[in-house]
Amino acid sequence: MEKPVERRRFLGKVEELSRAELDDLQLRRLRKQLARVKDVPFFAHRLGKDFEPDRITSLRQFADVVPTVEKADLLADQEAEPPFGTRLTVPADDVARFEITSGTSGLGQETYGLTWADMETIGTMGAWTFAMAGVVPGDRVAVTLPLGYLQGPWGGDWASRSLGCAVYHLGLAPDSATKLRYMQRFAINGLYTPTPTYLMRLTRIAEGMGLEPRRDLPEFKTAWLAGEAYPVVWAERMEEFWGVRLCETYGSTQGAFAATCEYGVVSDGERGVMHNADWNVLLEVVDPITGEPVAEGETGEALITTLVRQASPVLRFRTKDRVRLVPHDGCPCGRRTIALEAGTIGRLDDMIKVKGMNVWPAAVESIVLGDQRVEEYVAEVGIDDRGHEYVHLKVAFRAGVPTDDRTTALPELAKKVRAITNVSMDTTEIDAQDLPTFEYKAKRWYDRRADQLSATLVGGGR
Ligand SMILES: [Zn+2]
Repeated sequence: MEKPVERRRFLGKVEELSRAELDDLQLRRLRKQLARVKDVPFFAHRLGKDFEPDRITSLRQFADVVPTVEKADLLADQEAEPPFGTRLTVPADDVARFEITSGTSGLGQETYGLTWADMETIGTMGAWTFAMAGVVPGDRVAVTLPLGYLQGPWGGDWASRSLGCAVYHLGLAPDSATKLRYMQRFAINGLYTPTPTYLMRLTRIAEGMGLEPRRDLPEFKTAWLAGEAYPVVWAERMEEFWGVRLCETYGSTQGAFAATCEYGVVSDGERGVMHNADWNVLLEVVDPITGEPVAEGETGEALITTLVRQASPVLRFRTKDRVRLVPHDGCPCGRRTIALEAGTIGRLDDMIKVKGMNVWPAAVESIVLGDQRVEEYVAEVGIDDRGHEYVHLKVAFRAGVPTDDRTTALPELAKKVRAITNVSMDTTEIDAQDLPTFEYKAKRWYDRRADQLSATLVGGGR
């Protein structure tokens, strides 16, 4: 796609700040937030008696003296004092909205209170995201998920309101084909926020309906991805099919917030960046084992501290999200906020240990789904008859790929995957129709080892 030259600065001057000025702004807001929360029981306990916010003289020092907090700590706190825990930093009467995390870890769901001011802040950040994506007041934005206590769909609602867009909630439509028909009927400009898997599903359904987005959805110009990693060529293919610029947001109920800018998720074959909302969120990227900050270019765990959140702030929350920190001054848009690579955010616990190696499914994905000939794949991890671990990649090719190409593609893929993971994997072809269908989030990896082991144990009478 053509790339923009126009710079869009919805937030004004704050988007022009240098890195040093941003550090300074963050430090001032951090001290103010610490002063607000230091006597609130949950934080007082962690910060210690006699904690003096004014003695924090740098962001680095803050990281050295303030401990990290995990999901389990927050769950224990809200269990002890329901519903919001002792970390609610405003009177209960000031809570104007509640949110619950989507609970992807299976541990339980955290509850957050928001004041009206918190809601305005989230709306403003969303509007910033929309503006960077080229959405303007008067545009029509469709939200794919139902409106409720999850932040995503509601955030899209308030972002639209803050920017002056019309918002179309499609979440209650009975199926995806109906959503597409509504998009056409109401001439939607922006789609907020399909996962890559869901956009792929919409693509298949559109193809099945004979819908040609460039012809039938001429006003459609932007879709924001969220929630999953995806390969560069996949994003290019999607931009081509839908005739849109793809953008991405990284957000969480706890308060993480970053988004791609005017340059989108891919530019000249390179991944774009997501700019952190530094003025509201202090984002650290650390080695998950040592807790030390990683250098630009490296991958680590995202930790967040909410600088202006009133009701349920967090200090150094461990997101368990695996992110790649990229140079803060590398984006041609000129913003100097902390930057994350677009398209590669995953979960730390996605890692699979196989044959003694750490394998990240996203790395395999970037090779297999990055191949133009491939439509989809699944991977099975198991133990063979001789007790050896194996990974079996079952690859479905796109319609129209000649048999010769398929035959040569399989060993090529196996070689590339081995080069990146150090693990040999079997590759065979599978008919696309035999693959499971993914509705919202893809599940491509199936680990059979635990089941196979327990079957062996039962069989052996132990
Ligand atoms: Zn940028």
